[in-house]
Amino acid sequence: MTGANVASSGAAPQKIRCDACPVMCFIAPGQTGACDRYANADGRIVRTDPVVLLSRTLEGGGRVIPFATSDWDGEMVAPADTFVTGIGSGTTYPDYKPAPFIVSSVVEGADMVTVVTEAIFSYCGVKVKIDTDRYLGREGAVIRAGGEAIGHVTTAEYGSQMLSIGGVHHLTGGSKSEGRQTCAAMLALCNGQAVELTIDGGSTLTVQAGAAPIVDGVTERRMRVGCGSATIGMFAAQWQGLVDEVVVVDDHITGVVSEHQAGKVLGWAETGVKILGHRSTPGRYFRVSEPGLGWGGTKINDPLDILGPWAVRKGARPGLTLLMVSTTGEEFAYYELDDALQPQRRDLPDALTATVALIAENCEPSLCTVLFVGGAGGSLRAGVTQNPVRLTRSVQAGATRLTSGGAECFIWPGGGITFMVDVTRLPPGAFGYVPTPALVAPLEFTLPRAAYLAMGGHDAAIRSLAEVVAEGGEYVTAGRLAGRLAHWPEDRT
Ligand code: SF4
Repeated sequence: MTGANVASSGAAPQKIRCDACPVMCFIAPGQTGACDRYANADGRIVRTDPVVLLSRTLEGGGRVIPFATSDWDGEMVAPADTFVTGIGSGTTYPDYKPAPFIVSSVVEGADMVTVVTEAIFSYCGVKVKIDTDRYLGREGAVIRAGGEAIGHVTTAEYGSQMLSIGGVHHLTGGSKSEGRQTCAAMLALCNGQAVELTIDGGSTLTVQAGAAPIVDGVTERRMRVGCGSATIGMFAAQWQGLVDEVVVVDDHITGVVSEHQAGKVLGWAETGVKILGHRSTPGRYFRVSEPGLGWGGTKINDPLDILGPWAVRKGARPGLTLLMVSTTGEEFAYYELDDALQPQRRDLPDALTATVALIAENCEPSLCTVLFVGGAGGSLRAGVTQNPVRLTRSVQAGATRLTSGGAECFIWPGGGITFMVDVTRLPPGAFGYVPTPALVAPLEFTLPRAAYLAMGGHDAAIRSLAEVVAEGGEYVTAGRLAGRLAHWPEDRT
């Protein structure tokens, strides 16, 4: 790729063209292009961010290193301890040209090659897992950022609500504003920034990878210990002898210890309690309420709302004690039946306080998890090999290892190279965008050199780490050595 000069008259400064993506910006001297990733520096197109090299041994945040300069003395980076990531490496466009860096290395005595690029993804999305039972919105409800539709609520998982954000239809299939908002929200989420989202008919959220979610202005603290039934199963033995009845209030499955199999096995006596809900199996009730922001993800703020009249013939009696608790232990109440079999609130006995604390102790911190999902099975493969399907087969067979900014990726089985990566495992600021709109993500393909050549790899473009650091790339002018990630990219475990 080269910046193409544009003729100009007189002494007017020349704009030059960036051809790193289909937008083909003309960039004035000292200015950056539309994506801020490339600039015109003294009449030359440069990548504005340094290429990030990971060091296996470096502790801390890293340092800038001489790059693409004769100043490099060969001592700065040790090949066996250094991994060139796609972050800051630049993009090949169109794709038939070799990727920006194709780096040879020796790993445990084996000759390896790592093909490094920044890939442009029109087909990409973000999956967000939010550890909460609070009602965020109905499944399928539209998620908005800046008023534009950018995704939807998808299937809830165990103790977590799930969002699906982005995708090609929101990026390119709607209005320009929809595409821009979608791209901006995905970029911010992938780079670890907080994003405010609203859900049609549901909540307003602040979501940030690795941070607690904020639901309608309230910071979530705990992920539930389990559903109401599971909570009964876990703690029934601790409650026995301390209280006559326990009801665990949960939007999905409310549990009742005296009826539940766990209680039956322990010999729990009937209490005559009546739950106003749909009885699924003994001691397990669905739909005790509409979903909401109350106890256990229900709308309930007074747990007695889910109780019907107590049945004397099934064991109800004055003085019977009842603990009602949510699946996080954040809400609880203790009652005693009066002579009219009406529950009267009492202070929670010390012995039961410990059991409620045990529920809370068993809850994990509520977090947002953000996974980037991208399709690497398209034309970017041509920057790796002249026979793209061979790369796909190699990745699917596990012979080629795919990492993103050095972070391990999950590869979906089946056709193509559809991968997911936890954005918190990449160095900060690893993602970019282009205004087509699309996201830019770093990729590295690592495989044995012989296999690379056999798949039709770009043999003539292979360089050693020393050559890469000394010569730089077509656009790259700076380098940064960063500390290792939790998982070393070339290790196979
Ligand atoms: S948007 Fe960025 S990558 Fe694309 S042409 Fe403009 S400066 Fe280059």
